[in-house]
Amino acid sequence: MIEPAQRIKQLPRYLFAEIDRLIREKTAQGVDVIRLGIGDPDRPTPAYIIERMAAETGRPENHHYPPNEGLTEFKEAAAAYYRERFGVVLDPEREVLPLIGSKEGIANISFCFVDPGDLNLVPDPGYPVYSIGTCFAGGEVYRMPLTAANGYLPRLDQVPAEAAARAKLIFLNYPNNPTGAVASLEFFQEAVAFARRHRVLICHDAAYSELVFDGGRPLSLLEAEGAKEVGIEFSSLSKSFNMTGWRIGFAAGSAAALEVLGRFKTNVDSGLFKAIQYAGAEALNNRQRDSFIASLQELYRERRDIVVGALRCLGWPIDPPRGSFYIWAPVPKGYTAQEFTALLLEQAGVAVTPGRGFGEYGEGFFRIALTVESGRLREAMDRISRVARYV
Ligand SMILES: *Cc1c(COP(=O)(O)O)cnc(C)c1O
Repeated sequence: MIEPAQRIKQLPRYLFAEIDRLIREKTAQGVDVIRLGIGDPDRPTPAYIIERMAAETGRPENHHYPPNEGLTEFKEAAAAYYRERFGVVLDPEREVLPLIGSKEGIANISFCFVDPGDLNLVPDPGYPVYSIGTCFAGGEVYRMPLTAANGYLPRLDQVPAEAAARAKLIFLNYPNNPTGAVASLEFFQEAVAFARRHRVLICHDAAYSELVFDGGRPLSLLEAEGAKEVGIEFSSLSKSFNMTGWRIGFAAGSAAALEVLGRFKTNVDSGLFKAIQYAGAEALNNRQRDSFIASLQELYRERRDIVVGALRCLGWPIDPPRGSFYIWAPVPKGYTAQEFTALLLEQAGVAVTPGRGFGEYGEGFFRIALTVESGRLREAMDRISRVARYV
C-alpha cells in the first residue's frame, strides 16, 4: 500500500470505534442493545414526498446529468420555504445553492475560503465536520467553548484578537448538536456584527432549524439584519423531513459566497439526481409541510420529556433542551465520558455517545438521541435507572 496523505493520517482517532466494538460484542452475546447513539430519524419519509419521487424517477428526462446550478423548481421551493417559515426573501437563482446533503457543503466551504495559515472559528463541542473540513483545507481551528454557563452559545467577545484577525469562517449551529441549545435573534445579530468587524463569513448549520419546542419558533440566521452580506446558512432536509438517506440540502445567503461554493462544486460533483430535487421541492412546498413539521416537533417533545423526566428522577440536574433531538447530560462524578458510556452499554445494554467525540469541551458529558419510539426510550431509561444515578 502506498502511504496515505498527511491529511488522512492526521484525521482524529475515531472516538466511537471503541463503543462500536462494544455494541457488536454485546449484540453477539444476544443482548438487545437499545441504540441511542446515532442521530438518524427512525420514522419514514412522509408519503407525499415519496409519491413525488416515485413519479419523477419514471421520467426519462430525469435520468441525465442535472444542471450544475440545480433545478429551478427546487431553488424556488427553497426560497418560498424561507419566505413562509422565516419571512426571509431570497433570490432563488443567486441566493440558493442545492447541496448533496448539508454535510457536503459544510465540508467543502473551507476549500473555498481557507488557505494554509488561515483559521476558522469552530464551536466545541460540535459537529466534527467543521474542524475536519478546516484541516483538509490546510487551515487551523480555534475552538470556541460552548458551556452551560453561556447557554451553549460561544462568547464572541472572548475570541482572542489574534484569532479573530486570522479567521476566515465562523461556524455556528442552532438548534445545536449535541447540546440542544437554541439561539436568539439577538445572538445572530451579534454574530453579524462580529462578522462585519472581523471580515469573516458566518457559516450557520441549520440542520435542526425545524426541531424546536415549548412554543419556540424556528429561527434563521438570515432573519438578522445584514446577515445575507456576511453569512450563509446550511439547510438540510434530513432531520426536518426524515430524509437522511436521500442526501439533499441547500445553502442560502450571501450570493458572492454561494457563487464561490458553486464554482468549487462544479469541479468535484455533478449535482443531485433530478428526481430527488423534485421530491425535495415537494417536501419544502407541499401543503402538508407545516402539519408534518408540527407532528415531528410533538413527537420529539414527547420523547424529550420521557428522557428528561427519567434523568431528573435519578438526580440529573438538567433542563429540557429547547431544540434538536438530543439530550446532553453530564456524566456522574468519577467517570470520564468514555467510561460512563461503556458502563451503560456493559451493564444496561444502552448505547449513548460520549461527549468527548464532539471536542475537548464535550468531556464530562454524554448525548442521547431521541430517535427511537417512546416505549423503547422508557425501557432504556428503566435499564439505566438500575445501574446509574447522578452523583
Ligand atoms: C445531521 C447533521 C448534519 C448533516 O445533515 P445532512 O444534510 O444529512 O448532510 C449537519 N449538521 C449537523 C449538526 C447534523 O447533526
